[in-house]
Amino acid sequence: MPELPEVEIVARRLNSSLLGARVESAVAPGMNVMKTFEPGLEELVGREVTGVRRVGKMPVVEFGELALLVHLMSAGRLRVFDKRASIKDRASRVLIRLEDGRELRLREFGTKQRAWAKLLPVEAVVEDEMVKSLGPEAWPPPRLEVLAAAIDVPRHLHPLLRHQKDIAGIGRSWVDEILWEARLSPFKKGSELDPEEVERLHRGLHVLGDAIDHYEETIGAEVPDKVPMPLQVHRREGEPCPRCGTTIEAVFFSEHQMNYCPKEQTGGRVLKDRRLSKLLK
Ligand SMILES: [Zn+2]
Repeated sequence: MPELPEVEIVARRLNSSLLGARVESAVAPGMNVMKTFEPGLEELVGREVTGVRRVGKMPVVEFGELALLVHLMSAGRLRVFDKRASIKDRASRVLIRLEDGRELRLREFGTKQRAWAKLLPVEAVVEDEMVKSLGPEAWPPPRLEVLAAAIDVPRHLHPLLRHQKDIAGIGRSWVDEILWEARLSPFKKGSELDPEEVERLHRGLHVLGDAIDHYEETIGAEVPDKVPMPLQVHRREGEPCPRCGTTIEAVFFSEHQMNYCPKEQTGGRVLKDRRLSKLLK
C-alpha cells in the first residue's frame, strides 16, 4: 500500500511529467470509482494539467479550476503511460487521455474495487470531508506540540499512528520504521508517552523524509508499481536489528503484521500474538 513517501514521489514525478499536458478525453471504466458526478469527467476535456500534489496518502491532480482527488486504497496506482489502455484492461478505473498520446491511468490490482476519485473545484479539495478529517501531515513533521496533541489518545501507537484522522500519511510499513527509529513499543499508548518519548517519536518521523530523499535518488522519471522501499525492520522478522543485532520479531494480524526490536522497543519482551500483546503496554 502506498504511504506518504511513495505517494509523494508519485506526485512529484507526475507533476514533472504532466505539467502543461492537455486532456483529450476522460472516462471512468471502473464501476463506482467516481464519488462525485458534478462536475463530470468530461469537464476535463481541453484543460491542462497545472500540478500534481499529495494530501496525506492521496494524490491530487489539478487541472486549473478542477482537481481530481484520488484515494488509492491498498491496491490502486496512478501512473502515466505512453500508450492507451486496452479496452480489456480490467485494472483500469479512470483513464485521462492526453492530446500528446499519453494516458494518465488510475488502475487497481486484485479483485476488489476500493480505490476512488472525486472531481472537485480546486478550492473545494480542502473542504472535502475526507481531506478535512485528516490529522496533521506526518511529513514535513508537524510542530512538536501539534504532534503531542494529535497522539494524546489512549490507544496503542501502532494503530494510532496509522489512523489518518489522528496523523496523516503513515500506514502499515512506515509505522514500524518510525516506532523502531524512536525506540518505542507499538503497544505503548499515545497518551502514556512522556515528553521525552514524544520528542523521540517526533524525531523518528525523519524516516519519511529520508525515504523521499532515497526515492529522489533511486527512482527515475517513472515510478514502478511496486516501489522498492528502504525498510529496516518491517517484514524483516528473523533478521538482526540493524542497530543492535537482536533478532527482529513479528506479531501477525489477519491483514497485516508488525515488526519490532524486542531489546530496544519492548524491554526485551517478545509479543507472540494479539492475545498476549493485549496484556502488555
Ligand atoms: Zn535493536
